[in-house]
Amino acid sequence: MHLASQRTGFLFRSRSLYLVAILLVAQSFLFATTTQAATPPNDSTASYLPDPGGIRFFIDTGHNVSGLFLQNYYATGGLAANGLALTEEFKDKDGLTVQVFERAIFELHQPSQTGDNPRPQPYVEHKLLGSILSAGRDFGRVENGITNAETRYFSETGHTLSHGFLAYWQNNGGLSAFGYPLSEEFSEENPADGQTYTVQYFERSRFEYHPEHAGTPYEVQLGLLGRQYVEANSYDPALFVPAKSLLLGSQQAVAVPSLMYHHIRDLSSPLNSDLNNYSVTPAAFVQQLDWLQANGYHTVTVSQITDYLKYGAPLPSKPVNLRFDDGWANQLFAVNEMKKRGMTATFFIITQASTYPYMTHEQVKQLDADGFEVASHTRNHPFLTKNPAAFGWDQISGSKADLEKLLGHPVRSFAYPYGDHNAAIDALVQKAGYDSGAGIEANAYWRTNRLFNEPAISVSNVRTLNTFISRVRYGL
Ligand SMILES: [Zn+2]
Repeated sequence: MHLASQRTGFLFRSRSLYLVAILLVAQSFLFATTTQAATPPNDSTASYLPDPGGIRFFIDTGHNVSGLFLQNYYATGGLAANGLALTEEFKDKDGLTVQVFERAIFELHQPSQTGDNPRPQPYVEHKLLGSILSAGRDFGRVENGITNAETRYFSETGHTLSHGFLAYWQNNGGLSAFGYPLSEEFSEENPADGQTYTVQYFERSRFEYHPEHAGTPYEVQLGLLGRQYVEANSYDPALFVPAKSLLLGSQQAVAVPSLMYHHIRDLSSPLNSDLNNYSVTPAAFVQQLDWLQANGYHTVTVSQITDYLKYGAPLPSKPVNLRFDDGWANQLFAVNEMKKRGMTATFFIITQASTYPYMTHEQVKQLDADGFEVASHTRNHPFLTKNPAAFGWDQISGSKADLEKLLGHPVRSFAYPYGDHNAAIDALVQKAGYDSGAGIEANAYWRTNRLFNEPAISVSNVRTLNTFISRVRYGL
């Protein structure tokens, strides 16, 4: 019995290796584009940030993703896992509403009403691209595999899923996104770059392990099965023609993450203090600037964004705004680091503050002389909606006058203390002659019709570079 099963195992293995060898030759063309090269995709990220209205426009391909498909996009690993949208939503030949991405095809399923389920909810599943595109390959089958903390055996297909691939599968949508495993892990050459990777095939996907990206969203890379499938099937070319951004409508909009900082200082104990929650360490800040620079971002001021929206003044590629609130003296460390790198920022200054070490008037003047934007954050940092309008007016227009006296030129941008504002406050800010009012609504979309409710993405308490990258890319 023991010998027999060993022999069966051996025979089985040699047969399957033989088949794999043949099929690798036969299918090398088919799989030539399954994954991108080993470097993470160069995403012009600013254009990808989710809009609060539930629409994301992919500027590279000119397509919109919204509703359940957008929710599913983020729930199943976002850009790293799904890639760019290649089409709008459309009805496929089976009448299903679908949308094609580089690495997946989303399908919207509407279950029918039953006695058990009188109000069925629509749900999204990824098309079975792994099964379709690997049809004819024999990946064998493992009988009675084990399940433990690091491994899960799927009797449905006779394969096990382990370690990093298991974690990725579980964390990014599981069955509805990837389906059951069709193979074990094995080494396979990716003809796109000639490198051999550990891969595993699934009903809806193909995983490729990239240890050189350990700890990033690109550690596991998915095959470009969506792209491959549409190339192998006859789709109407009109589906791939860039569409109009649904975000624009009649209004101009632009995605620029406005990264909001407060203190740049080493953390003190106790670690969970309020001050620490508004502090980025000098070392982390330097790392963030280096990351922005290495990834092709260009810093712009709030006024530059406003000029783009109002007058069509050009913005650089991958624009990002660094926003420093309150004028703390410890922000001068950031000023130096930005100057070394030729970067700019907007500083929202409290003009009559005096309790914690603030920048001096001379230092604020120097900021302005160095080309940073100096903007207003009121005279004393009050809650504007909780005070009489006359008081608000003094804070809003008086701080503008204070700064203009100091700097000798108009001050154009304003930020609401605590993000506290309403339509009446917005109107005062506009009446005082500012071009814009920055709130703390956490998204990256700036719009011509919302100049007095501009967004911000807080990075005030970011502790790791990965968190920072995620805020820049996705606003979360
Ligand atoms: Zn503030």
